Amino acid sequence: MIRKSEAPTRLVLLGHPVSHSLSPIFQNAALKSAGLSASYDALDVVPHDLLRVLRDLARAAVAGNVTIPHKEAVALACSKLTDLAQRVGAVNTFWHEKGKLVGDNTDVAGARVAIATLLDAPSLHQVRRDTKSPLHVTILGAGGAAAALLVALEAFIPVTITIWSRTSDRARALAARVNVAVTIANDAKSAVAEADLVINCTPIGLSGTDVPVDVAALKPTARILDLIPRAGETEWLRACRAQGHVCDDGVRMLIEQGAASFERWFDIVPDRASMWRSLR
Ligand code: NAP
Repeated sequence: MIRKSEAPTRLVLLGHPVSHSLSPIFQNAALKSAGLSASYDALDVVPHDLLRVLRDLARAAVAGNVTIPHKEAVALACSKLTDLAQRVGAVNTFWHEKGKLVGDNTDVAGARVAIATLLDAPSLHQVRRDTKSPLHVTILGAGGAAAALLVALEAFIPVTITIWSRTSDRARALAARVNVAVTIANDAKSAVAEADLVINCTPIGLSGTDVPVDVAALKPTARILDLIPRAGETEWLRACRAQGHVCDDGVRMLIEQGAASFERWFDIVPDRASMWRSLR
């Protein structure tokens, strides 16, 4: 077992809101299974407090994850970014090296596994080999998660991508970052009309019964990835399943990004079975 010399003893998830998150449950299960005494807890941090909290965490060499709405702000606050975090422009995993804040992005790895599994393939490379005509993917939202999804998909050719975001400037800025042609849609309904794969990268559905787009607007064969892992699933995912769509509730991506984060912190491959068990 190899360990980083500066392996953290405390891990946190920075977000706002964050109380709904499943990460503390499966990360603590993985820590226990690995025999590590470190703990993982969720910290609700309002945006204007983020830099102060990061300074406090640096003093105790606390590592962790970042979620909505802080991924892009943490990327800007890091002293060092991995190539992937730089490419995505968002950080979901951080640690300290000699007192300096280092940021990475493991959402990309999580997204690749989740998408390949949803498309019944062992890997995205396999999907690429098997796909004759372009796969049309629609991404709803243009924040940190959408950026990671785009980077996960950009190596996957042939693919065509449509983005809808309520702030269209944000969608345009995101499209300019990647090496794949992206169409910006004016509304969610038209964005999904031709999509083979629809990915919800907005927080719509985290609470309440709002849906990101009317299920009737989806192509009947569209496969659905809702990034919001919510107990009992989101209203939207339930409606999509009722219409016969093949769906993924975001838990696979969550566990895969979390497993990759665990490897960054400890240089140990976590016990994924214990992570899945903890959520059942
Ligand atoms: P983010 O950077 O804050 O971006 C959120 C995006 O959603 C923005 O485009 C934002 O638009 C849009 N949005 C927010 N509220 C909206 C609303 N009411 N109607 C329409 N659009 C809205 O957040 P993020 O980090 O990308 O995370 C997005 C979601 O994905 C979160 O719920 C997060 O928990 C989830 N997530 C899940 C996983 C997983 O592994 N399952 C991984 C990453 C993220 P504006 O720019 O107009 O505000």
